[in-house]
Amino acid sequence: MRKLTIDLNAVAKNLTAIRTLVGPNVKVMGVVKADAYGHGMIQVARKLEAEGIDFLGTADLNEALTLRAAGISTRILSWLHDPEDDFIAALKHNIDLAVSSNDQLYRIQKAAKSTGKTARIHIKVDTGLGRNGVTVHELEELLSNIKLAVADGVVVTSGIFSHLSSTGAIEDLAQIAKFDEALALASSHGFEFEVRHLTASDGTLSYPQAHYDMVRCGIALYGLSPFSDNRAKEFGLTPVMCAEAKVVQTKRVPAGSGVSYGYLYHTDRETTLALVPVGYAEGLPRNATGKAKVCINGTLYTIQSRIAMDQFVVDVGDASVSPGDRVVIFGDCGPSADDLADAAETINYEIVTRIGSRLNRVYLGAIEESSN
Ligand SMILES: *Cc1c(COP(=O)(O)O)cnc(C)c1O
Repeated sequence: MRKLTIDLNAVAKNLTAIRTLVGPNVKVMGVVKADAYGHGMIQVARKLEAEGIDFLGTADLNEALTLRAAGISTRILSWLHDPEDDFIAALKHNIDLAVSSNDQLYRIQKAAKSTGKTARIHIKVDTGLGRNGVTVHELEELLSNIKLAVADGVVVTSGIFSHLSSTGAIEDLAQIAKFDEALALASSHGFEFEVRHLTASDGTLSYPQAHYDMVRCGIALYGLSPFSDNRAKEFGLTPVMCAEAKVVQTKRVPAGSGVSYGYLYHTDRETTLALVPVGYAEGLPRNATGKAKVCINGTLYTIQSRIAMDQFVVDVGDASVSPGDRVVIFGDCGPSADDLADAAETINYEIVTRIGSRLNRVYLGAIEESSN
């Protein structure tokens, strides 16, 4: 009665759009953290691998290991490490690792020695976001430690990267300049990198001068704009996810009927109420009550009464709506993930990432598990 359709062919199309934008000399990393922003990490990764993606990106090492366990052999970079991670499993499974501190470098070196593997690292530089990475100021010390590890044969420097704050052009351009400073410093120490990378989807669309050797795209691959402006189509992106349900009950009620918890809504005439089995447990934000619209039989209706855990009710007036009719929460008929995000005063990223487990996932264009 609840369905989440994930069109992996749209993921492939969005990858093509990104490749066209960045040109043939820039690699693309498909970011599949957080279950591919709720789209299904393994299914999305298999599709991207079939499309020849250069790299996959995950936040946690566990996500990267889950991909390997599913047979994904594409290069994977993981960047948000547990302070206790010993990195042995990471090296056994050929995961590229971000290095944000001397301590992480030390633990990676130890793992490399104990496994006999050479670790592929990407130096993470904090150019102004204030999250992980070393500041340009601390970079010199990290570089000298890395030099020793490289000389020891336990580490190769595959990459160097940073991440923008997306505050505005002035702040982003200052970060780009900081990144160039870090690159110059590394190069003055004799470092060369296979991939220098800075931009996520927003920077990739905004700053063609900052693509370097690779871009890291998440939200754009899922067909959504990284800006809160509902402009995905303008960028040639196709939404991947469609959330829908069926009307499970309808009833005629008189004028003056209170509807759902707290009676935020009273009918002002005799009318038909339609019950839809989707609530905040499905990721329909409770605070979108009174603002979110859904589409039933081609007509948009605002959810006026309180969104509950499992269900909501819409007043459909005298329209002919019956149990079994399709209700689009967001997707291919009117409301977009951006519209729902606006209604809930959040961003499209949060909408797609928080879809609950009770929706039945249906994949279009899925790639079968590889046999190797
Ligand atoms: C999540 C993330 C990305 C992808 O961001 P989008 O805005 O979804 O493209 C890229 N790089 C890093 C470091 C991230 O954490």
